[in-house]
This record gives sequence, structure tokens and C-alpha cells, in this order.
Amino acid sequence: MSTHTQLIESLRQIVGASNVLTDGDLTPWVQDWRKRETGKALAVVRPGSTPEVAAVVKACAAARVSIVPQGGNTGMVVGSTPDASGTQVVLSLTRMNKVRTLDAGNLTITVDAGCVLQNLQEACEKAGFLFPLSLASEGSCTIGGNLGTNAGGTQVVRYGNTRDLCLGLEVVNAQGEIWDGLSGLRKDNTGYDLRHLFIGSEGTLGVITGATMKLYPMPKSQLTAFAAVPSLEAAVELLGLAHQHLGSGLTGFEVMGQFALSLVAKHFPQQRVPFWQEHAWCVVLENSDNESEAHARECFERLLEAAMEAGCVVDAVVAESMAQAHALWHIRESIPMAQAEEGLNIKHDISINVSRIPEFVTETNALLLERFPGARMVVYGHLGDGNLHYNVQAPENEDQARFLNEQETPMNALVYEAVDRYRGSISAEHGVGSLKVNTLPKHKSPVALDMMRAIKQGLDPQNLMNPGRVLKA
Ligand SMILES: Cc1cc2nc3c(=O)[nH]c(=O)nc-3n(C[C@H](O)[C@H](O)[C@H](O)COP(=O)(O)OP(=O)(O)OC[C@H]3O[C@@H](n4cnc5c(N)ncnc54)[C@H](O)[C@@H]3O)c2cc1C
Repeated sequence: MSTHTQLIESLRQIVGASNVLTDGDLTPWVQDWRKRETGKALAVVRPGSTPEVAAVVKACAAARVSIVPQGGNTGMVVGSTPDASGTQVVLSLTRMNKVRTLDAGNLTITVDAGCVLQNLQEACEKAGFLFPLSLASEGSCTIGGNLGTNAGGTQVVRYGNTRDLCLGLEVVNAQGEIWDGLSGLRKDNTGYDLRHLFIGSEGTLGVITGATMKLYPMPKSQLTAFAAVPSLEAAVELLGLAHQHLGSGLTGFEVMGQFALSLVAKHFPQQRVPFWQEHAWCVVLENSDNESEAHARECFERLLEAAMEAGCVVDAVVAESMAQAHALWHIRESIPMAQAEEGLNIKHDISINVSRIPEFVTETNALLLERFPGARMVVYGHLGDGNLHYNVQAPENEDQARFLNEQETPMNALVYEAVDRYRGSISAEHGVGSLKVNTLPKHKSPVALDMMRAIKQGLDPQNLMNPGRVLKA
């Protein structure tokens, strides 16, 4: 029997034959969300418990077979699917989807890593708490994937990234040992904080199997406004006013360029997109208030009055109901899907200091159009955190696949060089995966890369955990 056949036999014994998939259509596990790459797996393995994950990792390590941890497979950087070799095991966490405990007194919830984000949000809401991580992919992505990528989302401006919401982890390391670091402690200075090594490591250091996350009191009221602003400079000015007027009530601040909104209007005509035809930029803002809805509305009105007086808002609507608020947010959240409908595109998930974003966009738009005439910029994102999705759609009537093939590398180089000049980051929230693994060394200091390699070598000396992602193999 070959080593691979023996391994598959052992995996069947560990997780049950029905949870080791080798034949049939494995597309959902081997193709990335953007359909950029389709790999080939030796097997897709679906453990149901942490000891099963540990046994799977041990068996793979003994056979020197590498593992690709996978949650909802909604990642944007080709990090959760196998390569084309047919020798990697996809370890899917989706059967591990339980809420373990909710500690109301400690304001924490402990869950399996395969818990779908929306289910986690709903479990918290049912108990009267808020779990504030919120992404357009929340119906499919898992908390393990959110931790693996240190996901951002729409409420970072108030609550931080996934890293900021996590107090403890349970991890199966590359040797197949279980590290129980589940902790609800808010203070623990006993040496290196290992949890932070695994958060954002994209499955390259170990498999996250459980997590303890922070809960927040449910705000009394959440109000959403959609405002037209005359320029990106005005959007930044509005953000400053929103911080002043709303304080910690400001829980979302997203910007959307006219072309991005036009794609939503074109591909989802059932959605009513306000203002996009007349104005270059729109903003969606959220105010979460702990007093009352009346107070929230009053603060919002004062903010919008001040903003109109300052000339940084030209028109605005404030949602009258939750349904209206959802509809306004849905416009923002539909941009990635509308872009996918429009066709292949080149994505840049970048961050720059908020104050410098308008200058960056003006300068980089001009450079791009000079070099790639007709390129259509789809600019939107989490302005409150200085994170833009600065994407590019091929010129109209141009073969999109050819454009992507020929222009992606030079276009990325141009955009990322601009990001460097502004001391920004080439990946604000999506991670590195395999898509940016060759690009990262050009934009990260050699000292930082050496320390990252030392961590990888120390924790995964056989290079079996998601090899070729984040760091070159
Ligand atoms: C429509 C849409 C909107 C999105 N919006 C946002 C957004 O606003 N902000 C944002 O940050 N991202 C966003 N994303 C990207 C994506 O949803 C996030 O990266 C998400 O955190 C991935 O979760 P997942 O469970 O799908 O992980 P996967 O895609 O399965 O995996 C992502 C990475 O994490 C690793 N991983 C997965 N599970 C584990 C585990 N248990 N242990 C260790 N490593 C693991 C994988 O190996 C891979 O490297 C969006 C995606 C879509 C499709």
C-alpha cells in the first residue's frame, strides 16, 4: 500500500469514512471564492472534534503530507484551497460548529472554530449581547477563518479587528498537540502572547479549533445614514466630525465611489441606490447609542447639520426603520458581488493613514490612467479604518481575462509602490495567501521577514501547515 493510501485509511479510521472525501465533485473545497484557482486535494477531511483534528494532524505529519486548514472558503487571497499537486489534505472545520459556553458575567463566548460567524452573532443576540464582527460574507465564513485572517469588516472603527475581539484560543499545533489557551482573561502578562501568533497566520502555524471571544452590551439603538459628499477630502472631513459628534457611538464609516455604486445599480436594479448619479462619493455611517433612539437621532441630526454647514455633506438620508438600515448597508455590501457580475477584476486591499487617502487616490488614479488608459477604478471600503478596496475593472469592451493576465502584475506594482510611498500596507484585512506571497518580500523589511521565518521554522519545522502561503516555501 502506498503512503498516501495508508494515510487515507488512517484518516477514515479517525473521522469516519463519510468524512473523508476523495472522489466526486470537490469544487466547493478546492476552488477559491473568486474562482481564480482550482486545486486538487489528496482528500478533504472533516473532523468533528479537537481530538480528531489532533489525530489527523499527527497522521499527516507522520506521512509528511501537508494540510490546508479551511473554514467557509470565502477568503480573497487563495489561502484556503490546495495547490495543484493532489498531495495536500484539506482540513475542513465546518463540522465543528458549536457554541461551547457563554459567560454573561465575564462577557465572553467560547465557540468551536467552524462556527459560522452569523450563527455566532445570533447566539450572542439571543442572550442579549452584541458580537460586533460583521462582514458581507458572515453567512458562510467561520470564526476560525476570521481569526486565521484577522478579518476586519464594517465595525473596526469602534471595536477593532478580529484580533481585538479574541481573548483565548485552542490550537492544534503542527505536531498534532493540543494547546488549550482558551481564556477569558483580559489581563495575562505571562510571557509571549501565543494567541497573537496564530491570529492572522492564515493556517501556516497550526489549526485553530476553538476560541473565546469578547461580548459587548447590545446598544439601545443603531441608526444608519447614507450621505452624498462632494469629494474624498469631504468624506475625511465628515469622518472627523463624526468622531467629534458621535464619540464611541460611531460604529461604521464606509465610503463608496460613484463607479462602485453604478455597478450595484446596474447589476442589482431591485436595490434603490440613492444619490449615485449626481455625486462622486457617498458614505454610509452608523451610530450605535446606549441611551435611546431619540438621543441617537438627535446626535445624528447635529452631526449632519454641522457637516452640511461645513460643506462636506450635500445630501443625506437617515434610515427610519431597521429594514431601511439593512437596505442601505446592503448597497455597500453588494459592491463585491456587483463587481464579480461585471467581470474579472484586479483587487487591492490597502490601508493608508486616513488623512492621506484623498491625496493617494488622486495621485494613483492619475498614474493608472496614464499607464492603462480606460481602466475603471472601483474604489470603496472602510474609510473609518483607512482601509480602501482600490480595485480595477478592465476598460469597457476589452477582453477581461486578457487584461487581467497581461496587466495584473504591472498594475499591482504601480499601486503597491504608491502604497509604499504613503507608508501603507498592501494587505489591510484579506491577508497574503498565495496571491500575494511573491509580492510581500518587496514590501516588508528583511528584518521583519527573517523574524517571521524564524517563527514558522520554530513552530512548523517540517513546513506542513499551509505551505507556500504568507511565506514562500
Ligand atoms: C462578499 C465577501 C465580503 C468580504 N468582506 C470582508 C471584509 O469586510 N473584511 C475582511 O476582512 N474580509 C472580508 N472577506 C474575506 C473573507 O470572508 C474573510 O477573510 C474571512 O475571515 C474568511 O473566513 P473563512 O471561514 O471563509 O476562511 P477561509 O477562506 O476558509 O480561510 C481563510 C484563511 O484562514 C485559514 N483558516 C481557516 N480556518 C482556519 C482555522 N480553523 N485555523 C487556522 N487557519 C484557518 C485558511 O487556511 C486560509 O488561509 C469577504 C469575503 C467575501 C466573499
